[in-house]
Amino acid sequence: MPFPFKTYRKGQLEAIDAARAAFGRGKRFVIIEAPTGSGKSAIAVTMAREAGSAYLLTAQKLLQDQYGRDFPDLALMKGRANYRCLVAPTHAAAAPCITGRKFPECDDCPYFCAKDEAMAANSALMNYAYYLTELNYQGGFGPRELLVLDEAHNAEGALMGFIEVTLSDMQLRRVGVEETIPTAFDDGEFFDFAEDVVPVLTKRRRELEAQLKGAKLPPDIALELLTHKQWLDTQLSRLELLSYSRDEENVEWVVERTTGADGQRLTFKPVRVASFAEPLMFRFGERVLMLSATILDPPTYLRSLGVEPEDAEVIAVASEFPPENRPIYPRNTARMTRHYLERDLPKVVAEITELLESHPSDKGLIHTHTYKIAAAIVKGLPKRHRDRIVTHYGPDGRDAALEQHLKSRKPTVLLTPSMTEGIDLPGDLSRWQVLCKLPYPYLGDPQVARRRELDPTWYDWRTCLSVVQAYGRSVRSADDFAVTYVLDADFSAFVKRQRGRLPGWFLEAVQE
Ligand code: SF4
Repeated sequence: MPFPFKTYRKGQLEAIDAARAAFGRGKRFVIIEAPTGSGKSAIAVTMAREAGSAYLLTAQKLLQDQYGRDFPDLALMKGRANYRCLVAPTHAAAAPCITGRKFPECDDCPYFCAKDEAMAANSALMNYAYYLTELNYQGGFGPRELLVLDEAHNAEGALMGFIEVTLSDMQLRRVGVEETIPTAFDDGEFFDFAEDVVPVLTKRRRELEAQLKGAKLPPDIALELLTHKQWLDTQLSRLELLSYSRDEENVEWVVERTTGADGQRLTFKPVRVASFAEPLMFRFGERVLMLSATILDPPTYLRSLGVEPEDAEVIAVASEFPPENRPIYPRNTARMTRHYLERDLPKVVAEITELLESHPSDKGLIHTHTYKIAAAIVKGLPKRHRDRIVTHYGPDGRDAALEQHLKSRKPTVLLTPSMTEGIDLPGDLSRWQVLCKLPYPYLGDPQVARRRELDPTWYDWRTCLSVVQAYGRSVRSADDFAVTYVLDADFSAFVKRQRGRLPGWFLEAVQE
């Protein structure tokens, strides 16, 4: 029985039938836009089970684990670093076999056993990063009948992360390369450097290979050299992609330079990844099913991935969550643009103080958009409220903060710039949430700035996407409820401007 549950949620069967019919009509790409909590996972699993063979990709670790728990017939495959090595006290990503050596224990290697299982299984479950690396650069997995992209609005970002190249003085030193990044004022010189450094990195990789294959090294030294070699492998394959794609039509690269105490750092990014999507991602699926709560603007979405509209069909599922259970209140508290931010932050702090007082025993979630805003709020809140706040000061503290909020029996409030996606706070885990600032993509990133210049609709679309994703964190079923407050004074005008892009189930919740 392909459908994993006894009964269907509203819209599920219709979406599955519509997807089957669209594929039946010869569409290669089917996109299902269904709100959070509408049961997208069950749709994905049904379609994967019906296909002769399938890949199912998720963007978030949490979601991948949830799929693995809920649907044990999917062969869960993670990156090598998640599996123990049986030969050395390390994980499979930095194990002696990487240099081509073999040991008797390797027959039972947890990583390779899991990979064998996933290769043989009808449906393999992976995250985007592993899929892209494994299918493009490693052997074993081949094309399948169906490629399912869950949280498909993340496909573009996953490709970007896979393609971009970062070189830093510190990392070059660490792997034993003497070359340093030139001090230049012209981006062209940085691109020349990216080409000139290839033979230097290749030579260093050869030296490391020889060292690793030669005399027996102490395990800690061998591990360190392996890590260096892997870094060189990754950068060299990415530099190769940069080099050949720079001359191609429709591919434009930008470079971002930062300077710190450790020297310079360069990140090369393609402005658009549309021309990479087919060769790096789609070609491993005869048909492609994409699911997301936030497609929002199908033409912009399809363009971002280089999909021709005539090859695709978009299926929209309505929300069954009553709007009165999930109202959005624009509070018009503060102007949050760069120019007014410093001036208006105290107003944000005052508003949040008031909200903490009006929800004295409810857990909540505050989306701050930046760490700077989060720090200013913590600093400005009256001492009596600070104990309720659970926050983190960088990406590393994110999981611990979430864990603390989930475990605490107190009415804690998560204050974070990085949980607009990938977390669920159903029921009492969040009864109120705040969006401090409209989450416009950061224009200090040259890729974002150039992309906006070339395609302003893309910039608006990404902002809408973040707003709708953030909104979806706290109400997870039809009988769940939570209130959302938006403090950014531009929100009402934003909603008017983006009326055609924001979904109806979002607009109906906005309280004028
Ligand atoms: S193949 Fe052997 S050396 Fe490599 S990770 Fe597995 S057990 Fe370790």
